[in-house]
Amino acid sequence: MADAAAFFQSCAQAGALLGSLCAILVVPAAVALMVRYAKPAILAMDADRCWQAPFAAVGSMLPGASFLSIAAYGLTVGTSSNCLQFVTGRIIFAALLLLTVFALARATGIATLRSREAASIRNFSFAAGERLKAAAPRNCEAREISDANPFCAVLGVIHPIIIVSTGALARLDDDQLNAALCHEAAHIQRYDHVLGALAAFFSDLLPFGTADLLKLYWDAREFAADQRAVAHTEMESLAGAIIAMAKGPLLPVAALDGGSVTSRLQRLLAPPENSASTHRRMIAGGALSIATLIALLPIVSGTLGFLSCHSQ
Ligand SMILES: [Zn+2]
Repeated sequence: MADAAAFFQSCAQAGALLGSLCAILVVPAAVALMVRYAKPAILAMDADRCWQAPFAAVGSMLPGASFLSIAAYGLTVGTSSNCLQFVTGRIIFAALLLLTVFALARATGIATLRSREAASIRNFSFAAGERLKAAAPRNCEAREISDANPFCAVLGVIHPIIIVSTGALARLDDDQLNAALCHEAAHIQRYDHVLGALAAFFSDLLPFGTADLLKLYWDAREFAADQRAVAHTEMESLAGAIIAMAKGPLLPVAALDGGSVTSRLQRLLAPPENSASTHRRMIAGGALSIATLIALLPIVSGTLGFLSCHSQ
């Protein structure tokens, strides 16, 4: 008891919470709360999917990114912390270390499984035939995979490729195939393959309160890719591709690679009356910027020696 009392007294005197590994108990929660505050502003951007998607992705990442940065910083400099003079301090440090290792191992394990699944699909794919090769957008590698289920998807993070199933090739006419490939190319141009992987990893790292923003990102990025695709293809061809891959007995809910078929068709054929608003972007962007500043607070305060409990 005396040791615990001395430990907490030392903590209180140092005013050290933000500059230590203990910040991991407070700061990610504060970041998550700020992201909650930003969420209504991000949701209100439903006429501005091009910006809504990255905002939702960043919002879903921030608590996990905050957790990781504090863990990396706290474990790097934490061994010089004054609190380790106390048994209570050593127990708390060990508990935080275990929590961090568990969270990292869990998120890394899930990311590795995803990566292996993608590698397996890639290994089963083969070079594009003449028809797919002719339709593939410039600067995008497209490959085929033998599968009766109709799907097109972007695979890979560092070197993304477009995978098209033989089932999709059988169902799509040339215009629809071109539209589907424009949609996938739009994902690559918008770096959705990178953003999606990061959002999934950080949400797995700290899976509290970010699932809805992650889901919003997955939906919004489909609308944004559709919107970008119709700048290069006919809207009717894209709608036809979505329908062609969704109907039939082979796959009950197929689409190009995600999103609700009905809502995507509605959005394509009847765009919302209200338009993108700079005002809404500023509110959502401002709230996310504040959340980012909160996330950076421990590192800044620790680096500057401000509110730090480490031995000087
Ligand atoms: Zn898509």
